[in-house]
Amino acid sequence: MTLSDTHETETQDAARALFLELTGRQPDGLWSAPGRVNLIGEHTDYNDGFVLPFAIPHRTVAAVGLRDDDRGRVRVASTFADEPVEVALDELDELFPTTLGTEPAVPEWAAYPLGVAWALRQAAMAGAAAATGDARGIRGIDIAIASDVPVGAGLSSSAAIEGAAASALNDLWSTGLDRTALARIGRRAENEAVGAPTGIMDQMASMLGETDAAIFLDCRSLDANLVPLGVAEAGLAILVMDTRVKHAHSTGGYGERRASCELGAKIMGVPALRDVSVDDLPRAQQLMDDVTFRRVRHIVTENQRVLDTVRVLREQGARAIGDLLVASHVSMRDDFEISVPELDTAVDAALAAGALGARMTGGGFGGAAIALVEQDAVTTVSDAVAAAFAASGFRAPALFTVTPSAGAHRDA
Ligand code: ADP
Ligand code: MG
Repeated sequence: MTLSDTHETETQDAARALFLELTGRQPDGLWSAPGRVNLIGEHTDYNDGFVLPFAIPHRTVAAVGLRDDDRGRVRVASTFADEPVEVALDELDELFPTTLGTEPAVPEWAAYPLGVAWALRQAAMAGAAAATGDARGIRGIDIAIASDVPVGAGLSSSAAIEGAAASALNDLWSTGLDRTALARIGRRAENEAVGAPTGIMDQMASMLGETDAAIFLDCRSLDANLVPLGVAEAGLAILVMDTRVKHAHSTGGYGERRASCELGAKIMGVPALRDVSVDDLPRAQQLMDDVTFRRVRHIVTENQRVLDTVRVLREQGARAIGDLLVASHVSMRDDFEISVPELDTAVDAALAAGALGARMTGGGFGGAAIALVEQDAVTTVSDAVAAAFAASGFRAPALFTVTPSAGAHRDA
């Protein structure tokens, strides 16, 4: 049994036990969805651009059962929360979308699974109204959640909870949506129920992940192509360096970066920064203030780096992508300004200890970085990163390797 099997079994057990405690019965099934690491392509998703994430072995499990009483209520519990939250299905449309600036009507964690229930129910009702679907399967439900995805670490515990809930409800409510549609449901929950203005990357990675492959996603068309990574065959490993500095998407810098990107696209007269190429950058520099220009330059060059990474992976393999990872980090640090000292320290220490490449991953302002390292150098690089954190007086990082893993599925 591998470590990830052990993890998964423990998480499944925890979800099942919580369901039993909540309801006094066994669930109808278990569904799970993974967190993700983004190999490259940061903040490009909401600019209609390209990303290259993969699903990690860490998963969120939802133990779910339809309720026998026909009172049309949905109840959610999580091992992370003290109290379950229960609302009527009819009430979901009053709770969401969350109006910005008002007090949320439910605890934030509950807005993820309840937001999924809301968005999926609305999609089913719209389908039923258009006579292309059937909303009769939508009944009261109990959901118990457990997870081993680090929370707030930039590894997308949010997409994992959304993906697990969406997969479960899609099956038990017989709503029949495909994986891409379920990713959109998760995104809608995150954007409109939680109020975090994130793109579609995380949900797509969590829904579509495959063993040993990254997902090359065009965030405009949502065309997704699997790109074999061959990390292990090349004798390499991907080390996650979780700084344990929590980030928050619903506040601060993330929204500001989005606004700068929208402004940049408007000035360039295009629908999204996807439509600006590296050759257009000199013109962009003439037209906009320095800060907006540097935000634009990050997105435009990052899109190109994703395309280059996919090409290099296909032509030369994982060993050859190190410089692209480093260039991506530098662009996020200096142009997009979303790094923090802990992330820079992790990246610098990993590179100094011999990593082939390293970069922060996820939205920034904390969270995790990744390093591409020789398998037999994992311990050396990890020790060097831990030592650099200690020398800087930072809290000890969490260091672990990840292998590209399967996306959302029914477990039992
Ligand atoms: P990230 O996706 O990088 O982990 P986010 O801020 O996007 O960080 O999402 C983290 C939030 O998602 C948590 O603060 C919590 O509200 C919710 N969440 C994630 N996993 C769980 C879980 N297992 N149980 C309850 N809430 C969860
Ligand atoms: Mg998230």
